[in-house]
Amino acid sequence: MSQPAGAPHGSAVETRRQTPTVWVGKVSIGSSHPIVVQSMTNTPTADIAATVTQIKELVAAGSELVRITVNDSDSAEAVPHIIDALHKDGIDVPIVGDFHYNGHLLLTRHPACAEALAKYRINPGNVGTTRRDDNFKMIIDQALQHDKPVRIGVNWGSLDQQLAASLMDENARSANPQPAQTVMLEAIVQSALRSAQAAVELGMPEDKIILSAKVSGVPDLITVYRRLAAMCAYPLHLGLTEAGIGMKGMVSSTAALAVLLCEGIGDTIRISLTPAPGVSRTEEVLVAQQILQSLELRSFLPQVTSCPGCGRTTSTTFQQLASEVQTYIWRRMPDWRNRYPGVADLKVAVMGCVVNGPGESRHADIGISLPGAAEEPSAPVYIDGRHATTLRGENISAQFIALVDDYVDKRWGKHGQPE
Ligand code: SF4
Repeated sequence: MSQPAGAPHGSAVETRRQTPTVWVGKVSIGSSHPIVVQSMTNTPTADIAATVTQIKELVAAGSELVRITVNDSDSAEAVPHIIDALHKDGIDVPIVGDFHYNGHLLLTRHPACAEALAKYRINPGNVGTTRRDDNFKMIIDQALQHDKPVRIGVNWGSLDQQLAASLMDENARSANPQPAQTVMLEAIVQSALRSAQAAVELGMPEDKIILSAKVSGVPDLITVYRRLAAMCAYPLHLGLTEAGIGMKGMVSSTAALAVLLCEGIGDTIRISLTPAPGVSRTEEVLVAQQILQSLELRSFLPQVTSCPGCGRTTSTTFQQLASEVQTYIWRRMPDWRNRYPGVADLKVAVMGCVVNGPGESRHADIGISLPGAAEEPSAPVYIDGRHATTLRGENISAQFIALVDDYVDKRWGKHGQPE
């Protein structure tokens, strides 16, 4: 069995579901490539300055694709200017256009927009009612003319009602009718598959199609994607739609995506968090990265392992040390990423006492174990599995951070590289 593409270490995922590669601008999506992190702006696209600023923030956080809504003529006209402004600042992240209701008209009437975008997202549930096939064909024709891939993105909040009604009727007539929820989930899968087949019949190459079928319930999402994965070979965009705000959104998204990713399902992910007031949009990128890194599918940031603490340790000192080490590493990463390629694989342990401290520290690249409440006031440090030193005194945090700096420089700095 092969390791998943991009997996840095041994991983819970034994095999990735095999797909063709779809190129979205410079980014490759499919089973031969690392799972791609993407995000979506929430600025009005016609506000060029605000949209460029937010795209830059998302890219700086690690978003490898950014989707923007293209909902009217003003936003369609803004698209090439947004992409020009990004290019002028040396940012060539692929920009995906999100179209609903009028995508066929906007792409046809604004060829500069159609050309500048790296991919078009089509929602088959709202390409129209009376002229849906004609509208769908117009979007596919634009994709063919401009040589762009598409994502056929079904969402249960805007499911094709004609298809849903037809499957419900068929189910009602069958000898063994299924529950309405089962039929609805099947309608979501069928909407994606039938739209992909229609696109292929219109001339779209199969390696220019990505599918998604998003719902907001965790068990439903798992059911839908397992079925979709079993019935086609297209790369799949995973995401729990309308995941919610804060902890609820993060936990629900993680619960759903972790199951699918461990089954080898999913080639690009987006976490649809509702940002809490004052919280950056980039949170969705960081959560996506952390899901992939927790499953050991990709490395983005050094990982700090710390115990929860308990009555055996001086909780404030321990919590402060864990927090200071993590904050320090996050703060240094923009610089470290450039100076020390590979540093994202760093593993640090900060532990509260000797019960699990030395053991966990030995498993990390560098780890510290604080003294428990009744223990001698000394903190053994382990480097590469061996006891390296023991820290004492008031400034253990600064001493340990200096050792982390030294470790990073020795292992990933120029003199740490092979000749
Ligand atoms: S390592 Fe020590 S302080 Fe941390 S949870 Fe375990 S027993 Fe408590």
